[in-house]
Amino acid sequence: MASVKVGFYGHVRQYHGIKNEIDTAIHEVLESGSFVMGPKLKQFEADLAAYCNTKEAVGVNSGTDALWLAFMALGIGPGDEVITTSNTFFATAEAIWIAGATAVFVDCDPKTCNIDTNLIEAAITPKTKAIVPVHLYGQAANMRAVAEIAKKHGLFVIEDNAQGMGARGADFALGELSDAMCASFIIQKNLGCFGDGGAVVTNRADVTERIRKLRNHGSPKRSHHSMGYNSRLDDLQAAVLSVKLKQLDKWNDQRRAFAAQYDKAFKGTSLKLPYAVPGYRHIYHLYVVETEQRDSLQAYLNARGITALTHYPIAIHQQEGYPWGQGARIVGSLKHSEVSAARVLSLPMFPELTGEEVQAVIEGVVAWDKESKH
Ligand SMILES: *Cc1c(COP(=O)(O)O)cnc(C)c1O
Repeated sequence: MASVKVGFYGHVRQYHGIKNEIDTAIHEVLESGSFVMGPKLKQFEADLAAYCNTKEAVGVNSGTDALWLAFMALGIGPGDEVITTSNTFFATAEAIWIAGATAVFVDCDPKTCNIDTNLIEAAITPKTKAIVPVHLYGQAANMRAVAEIAKKHGLFVIEDNAQGMGARGADFALGELSDAMCASFIIQKNLGCFGDGGAVVTNRADVTERIRKLRNHGSPKRSHHSMGYNSRLDDLQAAVLSVKLKQLDKWNDQRRAFAAQYDKAFKGTSLKLPYAVPGYRHIYHLYVVETEQRDSLQAYLNARGITALTHYPIAIHQQEGYPWGQGARIVGSLKHSEVSAARVLSLPMFPELTGEEVQAVIEGVVAWDKESKH
Protein backbone atom coordinates (compact mmCIF):
# COMPACT_ATOMS: atom_id res chain seq x y z
CA MET A 1 0.00 0.00 0.00
CA ALA A 2 1.33 3.40 -0.91
CA SER A 3 1.70 5.67 2.09
CA VAL A 4 1.30 8.89 0.12
CA LYS A 5 -2.29 10.02 -0.27
CA VAL A 6 -2.99 12.01 -3.43
CA GLY A 7 -5.99 14.33 -3.74
CA PHE A 8 -7.51 15.64 -6.93
CA TYR A 9 -7.19 19.40 -6.39
CA GLY A 10 -4.57 21.78 -5.00
CA HIS A 11 -6.76 24.78 -4.20
CA VAL A 12 -5.43 25.49 -0.72
CA ARG A 13 -1.81 24.92 -1.72
CA GLN A 14 -2.32 27.29 -4.63
CA TYR A 15 -3.70 29.93 -2.28
CA HIS A 16 -0.75 29.54 0.09
CA GLY A 17 1.66 30.01 -2.83
CA ILE A 18 0.27 33.48 -3.62
CA LYS A 19 -1.31 34.33 -0.27
CA ASN A 20 0.12 37.84 0.12
CA GLU A 21 -1.02 39.01 -3.29
CA ILE A 22 -4.46 37.43 -2.93
CA ASP A 23 -5.00 38.81 0.56
CA THR A 24 -3.94 42.28 -0.56
CA ALA A 25 -6.27 42.19 -3.58
CA ILE A 26 -9.22 41.07 -1.44
CA HIS A 27 -8.54 43.75 1.17
CA GLU A 28 -8.41 46.41 -1.51
CA VAL A 29 -11.92 45.44 -2.57
CA LEU A 30 -13.17 45.36 1.03
CA GLU A 31 -11.76 48.83 1.71
CA SER A 32 -12.97 50.26 -1.61
CA GLY A 33 -16.64 49.59 -1.00
CA SER A 34 -16.98 48.65 -4.71
CA PHE A 35 -18.17 45.07 -4.93
CA VAL A 36 -20.20 44.87 -8.11
CA MET A 37 -19.32 46.42 -11.51
CA GLY A 38 -16.38 48.17 -9.88
CA PRO A 39 -12.76 48.88 -10.87
CA LYS A 40 -11.46 45.36 -10.16
CA LEU A 41 -13.91 43.89 -12.67
CA LYS A 42 -12.85 46.46 -15.24
CA GLN A 43 -9.19 45.66 -14.60
CA PHE A 44 -9.72 41.91 -14.89
CA GLU A 45 -11.64 42.30 -18.14
CA ALA A 46 -8.71 44.28 -19.55
CA ASP A 47 -6.21 41.70 -18.22
CA LEU A 48 -8.14 38.78 -19.71
CA ALA A 49 -8.60 40.42 -23.12
CA ALA A 50 -4.86 41.18 -23.20
CA TYR A 51 -4.05 37.58 -22.22
CA CYS A 52 -6.32 36.19 -24.95
CA ASN A 53 -5.17 38.83 -27.46
CA THR A 54 -8.80 39.79 -28.15
CA LYS A 55 -10.46 43.17 -28.17
CA GLU A 56 -12.84 42.52 -25.28
CA ALA A 57 -13.69 40.32 -22.32
CA VAL A 58 -16.90 40.59 -20.31
CA GLY A 59 -17.11 39.04 -16.84
CA VAL A 60 -20.29 37.09 -16.05
CA ASN A 61 -21.51 34.82 -13.29
CA SER A 62 -20.44 31.43 -14.65
CA GLY A 63 -19.26 29.52 -17.69
CA THR A 64 -22.81 28.33 -18.27
CA ASP A 65 -24.09 31.90 -18.30
CA ALA A 66 -21.24 32.93 -20.62
CA LEU A 67 -22.48 30.34 -23.12
CA TRP A 68 -26.18 31.11 -23.10
CA LEU A 69 -25.63 34.87 -22.93
CA ALA A 70 -23.40 34.53 -26.00
CA PHE A 71 -26.18 32.61 -27.78
CA MET A 72 -28.68 35.33 -26.83
CA ALA A 73 -26.32 38.09 -27.94
CA LEU A 74 -25.99 36.40 -31.34
CA GLY A 75 -29.76 36.04 -31.65
CA ILE A 76 -29.78 32.25 -31.29
CA GLY A 77 -33.03 30.96 -29.82
CA PRO A 78 -36.19 28.91 -30.46
CA GLY A 79 -36.26 27.23 -33.87
CA ASP A 80 -32.48 27.37 -34.23
CA GLU A 81 -30.12 24.41 -34.14
CA VAL A 82 -26.68 24.40 -32.55
CA ILE A 83 -24.14 21.68 -33.34
CA THR A 84 -21.89 20.33 -30.59
CA THR A 85 -20.65 17.07 -29.03
CA SER A 86 -22.19 14.95 -26.31
CA ASN A 87 -18.93 14.01 -24.58
CA THR A 88 -18.58 17.25 -22.67
CA PHE A 89 -19.70 18.66 -19.37
CA PHE A 90 -23.49 18.87 -19.28
CA ALA A 91 -23.50 22.69 -19.28
CA THR A 92 -22.45 22.91 -22.95
CA ALA A 93 -25.79 21.47 -24.04
CA GLU A 94 -27.70 22.90 -21.09
CA ALA A 95 -26.82 26.42 -22.28
CA ILE A 96 -28.25 25.63 -25.73
CA TRP A 97 -31.50 24.50 -24.10
CA ILE A 98 -31.61 27.54 -21.80
CA ALA A 99 -31.37 29.76 -24.88
CA GLY A 100 -34.37 27.87 -26.26
CA ALA A 101 -32.46 26.37 -29.19
CA THR A 102 -32.13 22.72 -30.22
CA ALA A 103 -28.92 20.83 -29.50
CA VAL A 104 -27.54 18.73 -32.35
CA PHE A 105 -24.92 16.16 -31.39
CA VAL A 106 -22.19 14.74 -33.59
CA ASP A 107 -19.56 12.26 -32.45
CA CYS A 108 -16.06 13.03 -31.24
CA ASP A 109 -12.74 12.07 -32.75
CA PRO A 110 -11.68 9.02 -30.70
CA LYS A 111 -8.07 10.21 -30.55
CA THR A 112 -8.52 13.75 -29.25
CA CYS A 113 -12.05 13.36 -27.80
CA ASN A 114 -12.85 16.74 -29.42
CA ILE A 115 -15.57 17.29 -32.01
CA ASP A 116 -14.95 15.28 -35.19
CA THR A 117 -14.97 18.11 -37.71
CA ASN A 118 -15.52 15.64 -40.56
CA LEU A 119 -19.03 15.01 -39.21
CA ILE A 120 -20.20 18.62 -38.90
CA GLU A 121 -21.32 19.32 -42.45
CA ALA A 122 -23.71 16.35 -42.52
CA ALA A 123 -25.46 17.83 -39.45
CA ILE A 124 -26.13 21.22 -41.03
CA THR A 125 -29.75 22.05 -41.98
CA PRO A 126 -31.45 25.34 -42.91
CA LYS A 127 -32.13 25.75 -39.16
CA THR A 128 -28.48 25.51 -38.13
CA LYS A 129 -27.19 28.74 -36.60
CA ALA A 130 -23.96 27.86 -34.81
CA ILE A 131 -21.24 25.38 -33.98
CA VAL A 132 -19.97 24.99 -30.41
CA PRO A 133 -16.58 23.28 -30.27
CA VAL A 134 -15.38 22.34 -26.75
CA HIS A 135 -11.66 22.39 -25.96
CA LEU A 136 -12.04 19.26 -23.92
CA TYR A 137 -9.54 18.40 -21.18
CA GLY A 138 -7.51 21.49 -22.10
CA GLN A 139 -6.71 20.74 -25.74
CA ALA A 140 -7.93 22.96 -28.57
CA ALA A 141 -10.50 21.55 -30.96
CA ASN A 142 -9.57 21.85 -34.63
CA MET A 143 -10.63 25.49 -34.93
CA ARG A 144 -9.26 25.94 -38.45
CA ALA A 145 -11.64 23.25 -39.72
CA VAL A 146 -14.56 24.54 -37.63
CA ALA A 147 -14.06 28.13 -38.81
CA GLU A 148 -13.84 27.05 -42.45
CA ILE A 149 -17.13 25.12 -42.27
CA ALA A 150 -18.80 28.00 -40.41
CA LYS A 151 -17.67 30.49 -43.03
CA LYS A 152 -18.84 28.32 -45.90
CA HIS A 153 -22.33 27.89 -44.39
CA GLY A 154 -22.72 31.29 -42.70
CA LEU A 155 -22.75 29.94 -39.13
CA PHE A 156 -21.62 31.42 -35.85
CA VAL A 157 -18.89 29.76 -33.80
CA ILE A 158 -19.01 29.92 -30.01
CA GLU A 159 -16.05 28.26 -28.29
CA ASP A 160 -16.70 26.47 -25.01
CA ASN A 161 -13.35 27.16 -23.43
CA ALA A 162 -14.18 26.28 -19.85
CA GLN A 163 -11.25 23.86 -19.81
CA GLY A 164 -8.51 25.28 -22.02
CA MET A 165 -7.51 28.77 -20.88
CA GLY A 166 -3.90 29.13 -22.03
CA ALA A 167 -4.09 26.34 -24.64
CA ARG A 168 -3.29 27.02 -28.31
CA GLY A 169 -3.55 25.35 -31.69
CA ALA A 170 -0.58 24.91 -34.01
CA ASP A 171 -1.40 28.07 -35.98
CA PHE A 172 -4.32 29.65 -34.12
CA ALA A 173 -5.07 31.10 -30.72
CA LEU A 174 -8.24 30.31 -28.81
CA GLY A 175 -10.70 33.17 -29.22
CA GLU A 176 -9.19 34.13 -32.58
CA LEU A 177 -11.43 32.17 -34.95
CA SER A 178 -14.86 32.51 -33.35
CA ASP A 179 -17.63 35.03 -32.65
CA ALA A 180 -17.28 34.46 -28.93
CA MET A 181 -15.25 32.33 -26.54
CA CYS A 182 -16.74 31.34 -23.21
CA ALA A 183 -14.65 30.76 -20.09
CA SER A 184 -15.49 29.31 -16.68
CA PHE A 185 -13.66 30.30 -13.50
CA ILE A 186 -15.22 27.88 -11.06
CA ILE A 187 -12.43 26.84 -8.71
CA GLN A 188 -11.62 23.48 -10.29
CA LYS A 189 -10.80 24.99 -13.70
CA ASN A 190 -7.17 25.90 -14.59
CA LEU A 191 -7.93 29.55 -13.83
CA GLY A 192 -10.32 29.42 -10.90
CA CYS A 193 -11.70 31.98 -8.47
CA PHE A 194 -13.13 31.37 -4.98
CA GLY A 195 -16.65 30.60 -6.13
CA ASP A 196 -18.41 30.90 -9.46
CA GLY A 197 -17.33 33.07 -12.37
CA GLY A 198 -17.16 33.19 -16.14
CA ALA A 199 -16.42 35.45 -19.09
CA VAL A 200 -17.23 36.00 -22.73
CA VAL A 201 -14.12 36.85 -24.74
CA THR A 202 -14.59 38.31 -28.21
CA ASN A 203 -13.30 40.56 -30.98
CA ARG A 204 -16.84 41.67 -31.83
CA ALA A 205 -17.90 45.07 -30.49
CA ASP A 206 -21.60 44.30 -31.03
CA VAL A 207 -21.42 41.07 -29.02
CA THR A 208 -19.55 42.86 -26.25
CA GLU A 209 -22.13 45.60 -26.05
CA ARG A 210 -25.04 43.15 -25.93
CA ILE A 211 -23.46 40.94 -23.26
CA ARG A 212 -22.66 44.00 -21.14
CA LYS A 213 -26.33 44.94 -21.26
CA LEU A 214 -27.75 41.45 -20.89
CA ARG A 215 -25.67 40.65 -17.80
CA ASN A 216 -26.89 43.79 -16.03
CA HIS A 217 -30.69 43.88 -16.39
CA GLY A 218 -30.47 45.15 -19.93
CA SER A 219 -29.08 48.39 -18.57
CA PRO A 220 -26.57 50.39 -20.61
CA LYS A 221 -26.81 53.23 -18.09
CA ARG A 222 -28.50 53.92 -14.79
CA SER A 223 -32.32 53.61 -14.80
CA HIS A 224 -32.47 52.63 -18.51
CA HIS A 225 -33.43 49.01 -19.18
CA SER A 226 -34.34 46.55 -21.87
CA MET A 227 -34.95 42.85 -21.20
CA GLY A 228 -31.91 41.28 -19.56
CA TYR A 229 -30.71 39.22 -16.60
CA ASN A 230 -28.46 39.44 -13.58
CA SER A 231 -25.20 37.67 -14.32
CA ARG A 232 -22.21 39.70 -13.20
CA LEU A 233 -18.72 38.68 -12.12
CA ASP A 234 -18.26 40.39 -8.76
CA ASP A 235 -15.20 42.45 -7.90
CA LEU A 236 -13.86 40.10 -5.22
CA GLN A 237 -13.66 37.26 -7.74
CA ALA A 238 -12.30 39.57 -10.43
CA ALA A 239 -9.54 40.79 -8.08
CA VAL A 240 -8.57 37.18 -7.29
CA LEU A 241 -8.59 36.27 -10.99
CA SER A 242 -6.28 39.15 -11.97
CA VAL A 243 -3.72 37.89 -9.44
CA LYS A 244 -4.04 34.28 -10.61
CA LEU A 245 -3.97 35.08 -14.33
CA LYS A 246 -0.35 36.21 -13.95
CA GLN A 247 0.56 32.68 -12.81
CA LEU A 248 -1.49 30.77 -15.36
CA ASP A 249 1.21 30.09 -17.97
CA LYS A 250 3.57 28.84 -15.27
CA TRP A 251 0.86 26.61 -13.78
CA ASN A 252 -0.04 25.24 -17.20
CA ASP A 253 3.65 24.54 -17.91
CA GLN A 254 3.78 22.56 -14.68
CA ARG A 255 0.74 20.54 -15.75
CA ARG A 256 2.44 19.82 -19.08
CA ALA A 257 5.58 18.66 -17.28
CA PHE A 258 3.57 16.24 -15.11
CA ALA A 259 1.71 15.00 -18.19
CA ALA A 260 5.05 14.26 -19.87
CA GLN A 261 6.10 12.27 -16.79
CA TYR A 262 2.85 10.29 -16.85
CA ASP A 263 3.13 9.71 -20.62
CA LYS A 264 6.61 8.30 -20.24
CA ALA A 265 5.77 6.09 -17.28
CA PHE A 266 2.57 4.64 -18.81
CA LYS A 267 3.91 4.09 -22.31
CA GLY A 268 4.30 0.33 -21.92
CA THR A 269 0.97 -0.22 -20.14
CA SER A 270 -2.37 -1.30 -21.59
CA LEU A 271 -3.84 2.21 -21.12
CA LYS A 272 -4.90 4.51 -23.94
CA LEU A 273 -3.06 7.74 -23.11
CA PRO A 274 -4.10 11.33 -23.89
CA TYR A 275 -3.33 12.21 -27.49
CA ALA A 276 -1.63 15.58 -27.90
CA VAL A 277 -2.02 16.97 -31.42
CA PRO A 278 1.47 17.83 -32.77
CA GLY A 279 2.20 21.54 -32.48
CA TYR A 280 -0.77 22.23 -30.17
CA ARG A 281 -0.30 23.46 -26.62
CA HIS A 282 -2.41 21.04 -24.55
CA ILE A 283 -2.69 22.38 -21.02
CA TYR A 284 -4.07 19.24 -19.37
CA HIS A 285 -7.01 20.61 -17.46
CA LEU A 286 -7.48 16.88 -16.97
CA TYR A 287 -5.14 13.97 -17.65
CA VAL A 288 -7.53 11.32 -18.92
CA VAL A 289 -6.58 7.72 -19.65
CA GLU A 290 -8.90 5.10 -21.11
CA THR A 291 -9.26 1.41 -20.33
CA GLU A 292 -12.04 -1.14 -20.64
CA GLN A 293 -11.33 -1.94 -17.00
CA ARG A 294 -11.84 1.62 -15.83
CA ASP A 295 -13.82 0.72 -12.70
CA SER A 296 -11.12 -1.71 -11.63
CA LEU A 297 -8.36 0.90 -12.06
CA GLN A 298 -10.37 3.55 -10.25
CA ALA A 299 -11.12 1.26 -7.29
CA TYR A 300 -7.48 0.12 -7.15
CA LEU A 301 -6.16 3.69 -7.03
CA ASN A 302 -8.77 4.86 -4.57
CA ALA A 303 -7.90 1.94 -2.27
CA ARG A 304 -4.30 3.23 -2.28
CA GLY A 305 -5.46 6.70 -1.29
CA ILE A 306 -5.16 8.14 -4.80
CA THR A 307 -8.22 10.05 -5.97
CA ALA A 308 -9.14 9.35 -9.59
CA LEU A 309 -12.42 10.69 -11.01
CA THR A 310 -14.43 10.25 -14.21
CA HIS A 311 -15.01 13.06 -16.75
CA TYR A 312 -17.59 12.22 -17.99
CA PRO A 313 -19.00 8.77 -17.32
CA ILE A 314 -22.41 9.48 -18.89
CA ALA A 315 -22.67 11.12 -22.31
CA ILE A 316 -25.28 13.89 -22.40
CA HIS A 317 -27.66 12.01 -24.68
CA GLN A 318 -27.68 9.18 -22.14
CA GLN A 319 -28.57 11.34 -19.14
CA GLU A 320 -31.90 10.80 -17.40
CA GLY A 321 -34.63 12.97 -18.84
CA TYR A 322 -32.85 13.65 -22.15
CA PRO A 323 -33.77 15.57 -24.26
CA TRP A 324 -34.75 18.77 -22.49
CA GLY A 325 -36.07 22.10 -23.69
CA GLN A 326 -36.60 22.28 -27.42
CA GLY A 327 -35.34 18.72 -27.82
CA ALA A 328 -32.22 17.50 -29.51
CA ARG A 329 -31.06 15.67 -32.58
CA ILE A 330 -28.33 13.07 -32.99
CA VAL A 331 -26.56 12.87 -36.33
CA GLY A 332 -24.95 9.54 -37.16
CA SER A 333 -23.85 7.40 -34.25
CA LEU A 334 -22.30 8.71 -31.04
CA LYS A 335 -20.34 5.52 -30.62
CA HIS A 336 -17.01 7.09 -29.75
CA SER A 337 -18.64 9.34 -27.14
CA GLU A 338 -20.34 6.34 -25.58
CA VAL A 339 -17.22 4.16 -25.59
CA SER A 340 -15.17 6.98 -24.11
CA ALA A 341 -17.74 7.55 -21.34
CA ALA A 342 -17.38 3.91 -20.31
CA ARG A 343 -13.57 3.98 -20.32
CA VAL A 344 -12.33 7.38 -19.13
CA LEU A 345 -10.48 7.93 -15.88
CA SER A 346 -8.90 11.23 -14.81
CA LEU A 347 -5.70 10.92 -12.80
CA PRO A 348 -4.58 13.58 -10.30
CA MET A 349 -3.36 16.59 -12.32
CA PHE A 350 -2.79 19.99 -10.76
CA PRO A 351 0.25 22.27 -10.65
CA GLU A 352 0.75 21.92 -6.90
CA LEU A 353 1.33 18.14 -6.98
CA THR A 354 4.60 17.15 -5.32
CA GLY A 355 7.16 14.90 -7.00
CA GLU A 356 6.38 12.26 -4.37
CA GLU A 357 2.67 12.37 -5.23
CA VAL A 358 3.30 12.08 -8.97
CA GLN A 359 5.50 9.08 -8.20
CA ALA A 360 2.74 7.52 -6.07
CA VAL A 361 0.25 7.88 -8.93
CA ILE A 362 2.72 6.34 -11.38
CA GLU A 363 3.46 3.42 -9.05
CA GLY A 364 -0.24 2.82 -8.46
CA VAL A 365 -1.14 2.74 -12.14
CA VAL A 366 1.84 0.58 -13.10
CA ALA A 367 1.14 -1.88 -10.26
CA TRP A 368 -2.52 -2.17 -11.34
CA ASP A 369 -1.46 -2.78 -14.92
CA LYS A 370 0.86 -5.61 -13.84
CA GLU A 371 -1.70 -7.23 -11.57
CA SER A 372 -4.75 -6.96 -13.80
CA LYS A 373 -5.36 -9.50 -16.53
CA HIS A 374 -5.57 -8.03 -20.03
C1 LIG B 1 -17.23 23.82 -16.28
C2 LIG B 1 -17.76 23.75 -17.64
C3 LIG B 1 -18.84 24.54 -18.06
C4 LIG B 1 -19.68 25.35 -17.12
O1 LIG B 1 -18.99 26.29 -16.37
P1 LIG B 1 -19.64 26.76 -14.99
O2 LIG B 1 -18.77 27.93 -14.62
O3 LIG B 1 -19.53 25.63 -14.03
O4 LIG B 1 -21.04 27.17 -15.25
C5 LIG B 1 -19.23 24.49 -19.40
N1 LIG B 1 -18.59 23.70 -20.27
C6 LIG B 1 -17.56 22.91 -19.91
C7 LIG B 1 -16.88 22.07 -20.95
C8 LIG B 1 -17.11 22.90 -18.58
O5 LIG B 1 -16.09 22.12 -18.24
